[in-house]
Amino acid sequence: MLIDTHTHLNLNEFDSDRSVVIANAKKAGVKKFIVPGIDEFTSRKSIEIAYQYPGTTFVSVGYHPYEAQHEPDLRPLELLLRKHQESVAIGECGLDYHIYTGEQAEGKKSRQKSLLAQHCEMAIHHGLPIILHSRDAFSDLFDVLDTLPTMPKGVIHCFSGGLQDLRMAAERNLFVGIDGNVTYSKQLALIVPHMDITRTVLETDAPYLTPVPHRGERNEPKHLIHTAKKVAELKNLTLQNIMDQTSANAISLFQLP
Ligand SMILES: [Zn+2]
Repeated sequence: MLIDTHTHLNLNEFDSDRSVVIANAKKAGVKKFIVPGIDEFTSRKSIEIAYQYPGTTFVSVGYHPYEAQHEPDLRPLELLLRKHQESVAIGECGLDYHIYTGEQAEGKKSRQKSLLAQHCEMAIHHGLPIILHSRDAFSDLFDVLDTLPTMPKGVIHCFSGGLQDLRMAAERNLFVGIDGNVTYSKQLALIVPHMDITRTVLETDAPYLTPVPHRGERNEPKHLIHTAKKVAELKNLTLQNIMDQTSANAISLFQLP
């Protein structure tokens, strides 16, 4: 069994064939899915999907860091959490500095940091893990986490940091997520052997980050097996070992049934 811990089945890329995508993934051994919101609309949609596929798809509510520029209101998410107890996580949220350069960057970064801190406080308040997105922003990410009253449980999704960032994540008991780009990224081929398999989860980030040999196609959860195989190769472990351990990690982190 595999668990896709980060898959955007709530995006309109899957509106026309979502049930087929889920059925095909199940045939390929991917049995459970965590569907993170990137804004209020997709967070609501994640809840609708969870009602359609109970015990199969699970909800996370949050605003992607790109939403920070609109200074979104977290109260609607708070209401969703109270009304729909099936949410298993908060996010995806975090910091993404990749697109920011020049003189306007500082203001945008500080809005992202404030939005991230609000998500973390919500995660701590509800006792839920947090799904963190971090791109070109690791030192600020750890700074924000370190100023919180307590460290939330959580995962740095689609980990793209270096060895130092990996160590910082481990010191904070955070999990890291590995995606399809591990099948072609030279940087990840160097980092993955250093990852602690007991704190690693697998994810597709579908419809993005399609693994080899399907690059150029829309990514789907059924392709998670390619990521699992590559991780087994890089970690010098069996595929079965990777599947068992990462599924157990996902069940424990997100308290899945
Ligand atoms: Zn995502």
